[in-house]
Amino acid sequence: MRLQEEREQIVDFGRRLISSALTTGSGGNLSIFDPAQKVIAITPSGVRYQDVAAADVVVVDLHGKVVEGKLSPSSELVFHLALYERFPSIRAVVHTHSVYATTLACLGWEIPAAHYLVGFAGKKVPVAPYATFGSRELAENLVEAINGYQAVLLANHGLVSIGASLEKAFNVAEEIEFVGRVYLQTKMVGEPVILSPEEMDRVLEKFKSYGQPRKIEKK
Ligand code: 13P
Ligand code: ZN
Repeated sequence: MRLQEEREQIVDFGRRLISSALTTGSGGNLSIFDPAQKVIAITPSGVRYQDVAAADVVVVDLHGKVVEGKLSPSSELVFHLALYERFPSIRAVVHTHSVYATTLACLGWEIPAAHYLVGFAGKKVPVAPYATFGSRELAENLVEAINGYQAVLLANHGLVSIGASLEKAFNVAEEIEFVGRVYLQTKMVGEPVILSPEEMDRVLEKFKSYGQPRKIEKK
């Protein structure tokens, strides 16, 4: 089976979408791009994450043709492909219907820098205009709005994040859901204090060295 490791990661992170309350049922979708083979591994359409096995993950080429797998790929395949085409350095795409991000998306509100962790997406999280799920128009709106950010809200729909690995893109979705929740809660009781663009520049700079230094290979 091709992309065994990627398939297993998709199964694992699909279950995490549910356990982290980032989506329900079969909502949302995940993909990983393998630049060497020029193929992507993507969740099958309409299958609950608990029921997805590695063999159910679908492998498609960059034209969207299924090269391995018995099930149909995600109905959002077109936007996954559009993102890899437009941003060749990304390796994974995560789409969620997480409650707070989706609530803001239904209001048509961007997420501003109400909390510094918005830096996981950039200086804010923009909103892509509404279009029907699975449509080319949605893919076009998304690619245009996400330009320069790591995440975007899809109006009346949910959230999409991108990253250099599935783990990173998933992490962006998790942190943006947190910031979205905090932002909405502040709006319920008052007016949040928004961090300045200069402060967000500092945050984005510090993010580059945040966490543990790269592991040194043991001899
Ligand atoms: P799929 O099950 O086809 O991936 O669709 C879920 C979804 O979130 C559509 O936007
Ligand atoms: Zn969706």
